Amino acid sequence: MSAPAFRRDVTILVPSATLHAHAVSRISEEFRLVRIERADIALITPELAAQVRGIAAAMTVLDATFIDALPKLEIIGYFGMGYESVDAAHAASRGVIVTNTPDVMNEEVADVAVGLLLACVREFGSAEAWLRSGRWMREGNYLLSAATLRGRSVGIFGMGRIGTAIARRLEAFGVSIAYHNRSRNDAVPYRYFPTLLEMAASVDTLISVAPGGPSTEKAINAEVLKALGPDGVVVNVGRGSTIDEAALAEALTTGVIRGAALDVFADEPRVPQALLDAPNTLLLPHIASASRRTRAAVADLCVDNLVSWFDKGRPLTPVRECADLPYRAG
Ligand code: NDP
Repeated sequence: MSAPAFRRDVTILVPSATLHAHAVSRISEEFRLVRIERADIALITPELAAQVRGIAAAMTVLDATFIDALPKLEIIGYFGMGYESVDAAHAASRGVIVTNTPDVMNEEVADVAVGLLLACVREFGSAEAWLRSGRWMREGNYLLSAATLRGRSVGIFGMGRIGTAIARRLEAFGVSIAYHNRSRNDAVPYRYFPTLLEMAASVDTLISVAPGGPSTEKAINAEVLKALGPDGVVVNVGRGSTIDEAALAEALTTGVIRGAALDVFADEPRVPQALLDAPNTLLLPHIASASRRTRAAVADLCVDNLVSWFDKGRPLTPVRECADLPYRAG
């Protein structure tokens, strides 16, 4: 079905050289698409300022200055869950709705979190290297793994949508499960810890799926790692900024904890050399949600939010800062 004429005249700005191809293709079918290289006010011409009513973006800094350079802006459709690069509080203060893409990535990211945990404790990476380098043939069996998933107690930092999906999977593995959020999540039966440090002292496995931003910046620090203990394993599928990476590399190198499996880093795509050099460390290039199927679902929800706003006057999945904004039409 082709887009209604009133919507085809709405200008949506994509302020980056990269956005998922399906999102770009859908925006160009549904709206008038304009692209600029980056979110830089120097690239906003008077014509653009007068026309842009929506933005679609991923992993792009959209600060107050950029938002203010677009006086007709009504909605920012963020592609992804972690929208800390968008000044959503400022957008809300201007009446601009910000949406993100909750739920469509839960299962995919949870699968990867469990895969990382298993691969790390049972040393899949070095065991495979043993086989490929011919050592199995020459030297015999790979060493027994020092760690196991058996008997582990897992603490999840961020028991939200994805945290809950991870916990559901872990129940089947027979490990104990606890969590830390700022507030108790009444929808789950697991043990709640009001501080990350208390939880780290009571578990040996920390899975972080907390969002980025100032409230979680370097929350997993040297003290938390020490509390986890020498059998400790850290898995991070949330945001790299939640870990003090220098402290983590030090803890791995000195045996303060046993291992780490990370999908996310503080300054992607740069990965600190100290982490590349650290033992028992499994590193992935931020792929937890990166299957074709799931990223297409993210693209659809990103664009569906824009369509719903301009057709019906209401967004589908506004972020917390914008949840109380009045909608455009009833
Ligand atoms: P949710 O909003 O559903 O859950 C986030 C959880 O984190 C909530 O339970 C929240 O509880 C808790 N939390 C937030 N801030 C803090 C804090 N300062 N201290 C303690 N707990 C906190 O988000 P999702 O589960 O959908 O996604 C979580 C994050 O995962 C995203 O923000 C994103 O950064 C990351 N992600 C990574 C992907 C990848 O490819 N690796 C893909 C998708 C998401 P409370 O508010 O009570 O504190």
